[in-house]
Amino acid sequence: MGLYSIAHSLNIRGRILNSLTIGLATKGCEYARTKGGCSMCGFMKYADESISDRQIIDQFEQTLQISDLADIQAIEIYNGGSFLNDNEISLRVRRNLLEKISELREVERVFIESRAEYISLERLEQCRQWMGGKTMEVGIGLESADDHVRNVLIRKNLPEKGFVRAVVEMSRAECDLFVYLLLKPPGLSERQAIEDVVSSALYVFDLARKHGVNARVGLEPVFVCADTALEDMFDKNEYELMNLWNVVEVMRRIHSKGDVYVGLDDEGLSKGRIPYSCDKCYETLVSEITMFNKTQSFSSLDRLDCECRI
Ligand code: SF4
Ligand SMILES: [Zn+2]
Repeated sequence: MGLYSIAHSLNIRGRILNSLTIGLATKGCEYARTKGGCSMCGFMKYADESISDRQIIDQFEQTLQISDLADIQAIEIYNGGSFLNDNEISLRVRRNLLEKISELREVERVFIESRAEYISLERLEQCRQWMGGKTMEVGIGLESADDHVRNVLIRKNLPEKGFVRAVVEMSRAECDLFVYLLLKPPGLSERQAIEDVVSSALYVFDLARKHGVNARVGLEPVFVCADTALEDMFDKNEYELMNLWNVVEVMRRIHSKGDVYVGLDDEGLSKGRIPYSCDKCYETLVSEITMFNKTQSFSSLDRLDCECRI
């Protein structure tokens, strides 16, 4: 079995699709294994260097077997790293998983994620061929368009030209782009974080438009994972989680510029250290944000308020 599988709804340029998200345990992100990884990332908790190709394939097959695929139009694969890095997902595994998806006739889109450096026209075309020409969307963690925030505060090790190159390759391969932006990285105040993510989202939508790529922005409000540099800061009171109302503030400012998805799932990594508002409004806010992900309509959120809003 995979780590988790969740059925949920996606809104792709106004069309609502049912999607199955599948989380796979793998050897883990090579950047985290060899260079220490990004400052907030806790994905290595699920990694195990001894996991074999066969075990990854089995996890995927078993998840498909127990899932109700009757009305699923999209499959999202999360491997806690880069699906396009041969040292994390071998060619054999990549091909096997995508060929299995090609047999699922109802499925029209496949989502994978990768660090920008592994994205090439050749790899993308190969994947699209294996998945039978279905639409492919690739998620890249840009986190911030600001070099200092991205590479010093978050330790992403991604130069802007590397990101732009990946977007150009995706344009050539006719793939859709999904860009993760981190909301409130360590080292930024609440206000600075809002401005950083708003300008990053505008940068992404502009760049995608310039290269003729369909893009979605994924807002990732930071939560605190165990055994990360961020956890050390949090324990020393050097990091404060964002107020959930400020996630709504960012949504208010960018939702009209392009498709936005807000990731509120901590994948079981946070031990409850997540952006919060107050007991009175938290559940309503989460349910309205979840609804926004499905509808892309901001009007209900716009009408909400609470005294805890800062
Ligand atoms: S955020 Fe992505 S690139 Fe950074 S360490 Fe985690 S899995 Fe690797
Ligand atoms: Zn409140």
